[in-house]
Amino acid sequence: MKLNICHLYGNLLNTYGDIGNIMALKYHAQKRGYDVKVDTVSLKDDFNPDKYDFVFFGGGQDYEQSIVEKDLESKKDKLVKYIENDGLMLAVCGGYQLLGQYYFDAYNKKIEGLGIFPYYTENQKNKNRFIGNIQIEDYRSHQIYNGFENHGGITYLKDNLEPFGLVVTGNGNNGEDKTEGFRYKNTFGTYLHGPLLPRNENLCEIFLDIIDMNYRNKK
Ligand code: GLN
Repeated sequence: MKLNICHLYGNLLNTYGDIGNIMALKYHAQKRGYDVKVDTVSLKDDFNPDKYDFVFFGGGQDYEQSIVEKDLESKKDKLVKYIENDGLMLAVCGGYQLLGQYYFDAYNKKIEGLGIFPYYTENQKNKNRFIGNIQIEDYRSHQIYNGFENHGGITYLKDNLEPFGLVVTGNGNNGEDKTEGFRYKNTFGTYLHGPLLPRNENLCEIFLDIIDMNYRNKK
């Protein structure tokens, strides 16, 4: 059983040990019998939507996000195909922001997102940032996840987009409406670094069940 993981822009967006998400998923997938291979897909590289079983899109500083911004459009159609085909994707913080409509960075510069999902990200007044531990409750399974957030961006979901979770302690999407991240099919966006999967094995199990299901459906 082969499992291909894509670390999207892994050489640019990889803050707070985000790569630990890939290490944790790989470790648990190997225990379920998968032979795992990880590729970094970055600037000017082709993204093959039929190849991958897990795509990880990590967080980063505003500067790196502005570099990624210029390359994203070339991968948009293939990422949409992957997402619509029920592919598993986790986007954390900067990566999460870039899947949405736009992000105004700390200096009020607009960074265009892919516009795949109906949410947008403004900046906080006086360059304030939400920094600290965060705990959320999964919107579907009601499991609890722990993480660490550090973001100047404040994100607002539109068109009844489903949140990933509800904030128990901390700030989440915007510090106002208690939503945290979003979920569409098997694509998850979140502000939780941690890294998220090593810190929350219960979520890792949900991800592996999705991988198993996709694997059976592909055969
Ligand atoms: N630069 C973005 C922000 O400050 C994302 C930060 C991150 O990925 N940790 O909101």
